[in-house]
Amino acid sequence: MKTISVIGSGTMGNGIAHLFAQFGFEVALVDLTQEQLQKALLTISKNMDRQVGKGVLQESEKLAALKRIHLFTHLAAGVKEADLVIEAATENLPTKLDLFRQLDEHAPKKAILASNTSSISITKIAASTQRPSQVIGMHFMNPVPLMKLVEVIRGYATSAETTQVIMNLSKQVEKVPVEVNDYPGFVANRILIPMINEAIYSLHEGVAGVEEIDTVMKLGMSHPMGPLQLADFIGLDVCLSILRVLQEGFGNPKYAPCPLLVNMVEAGYTGVKSGEGFYIYHPESKEKSVSNRFK
Ligand code: NAD
Repeated sequence: MKTISVIGSGTMGNGIAHLFAQFGFEVALVDLTQEQLQKALLTISKNMDRQVGKGVLQESEKLAALKRIHLFTHLAAGVKEADLVIEAATENLPTKLDLFRQLDEHAPKKAILASNTSSISITKIAASTQRPSQVIGMHFMNPVPLMKLVEVIRGYATSAETTQVIMNLSKQVEKVPVEVNDYPGFVANRILIPMINEAIYSLHEGVAGVEEIDTVMKLGMSHPMGPLQLADFIGLDVCLSILRVLQEGFGNPKYAPCPLLVNMVEAGYTGVKSGEGFYIYHPESKEKSVSNRFK
């Protein structure tokens, strides 16, 4: 594999482009506007500066890696030479199905098409293409250059060969791939998101306060971050939409989202990205404090 196309240059797309460029691949980064692509390139450059500061990268390696990233607003041009396409566009089913139809049309016939989706069925995405055996999930964690795990999701029709290529490639970029089958939430979010929902229920029912719940899980279970703070980081809207996928996919009421979570999302309190969720985030500093609503 030489050329990797990454579709979407937001939080995850720029991290995936960074990773592959750092490991010597040519990267075609595709998004809807030049403005977004330039923003992504700046983010990658700043994140690489941090690696240079820590001695992980040489300045010359950073410059060479940045040169390997090519920007495209035209999807067909961006995937023309791809050996692998990794789709990291907005988490929305019609968007993904439409993108995969286009990828199938424009990417070389031998190319593997991967999705970084957190919750959409790989089997369903694959069925929108003429090459379902070459469609797979490659679920990176945020921040991509730092987090070791790649959840490799085999759709119903994904071939053993495609899976092996993606497992090997993940190791080549120093990640630890874990192979899982395609069921709602895969493994990571099937376990994580109900835990977050339970933490929100505990708050909602007055079992304990925000900091108390987070402290129990940090100090008691050695989690680096409490579930409510983690929910703010992931985005409460994202947590809610994954719960809905679990609820619909399994038809089990245990996945019903806590009404407090639903209210917060509907009111626009989505966590770090909106400035407030369970905590308030101060843009000028890294400090956070518990939201006044929960004091
Ligand atoms: P984001 O909103 O930060 O970025 C999405 C990008 O996709 C935007 O720049 C948008 O302009 C672009 N986009 C939308 N439609 C497009 C199209 N048709 N063609 C090209 N670009 C398009 O989202 P994100 O957080 O980076 O999430 C991307 C994917 O990764 C989602 O499927 C999400 O579920 C998954 N994911 C996210 C996280 C996370 O922590 N943020 C973790 C794992 C997986």
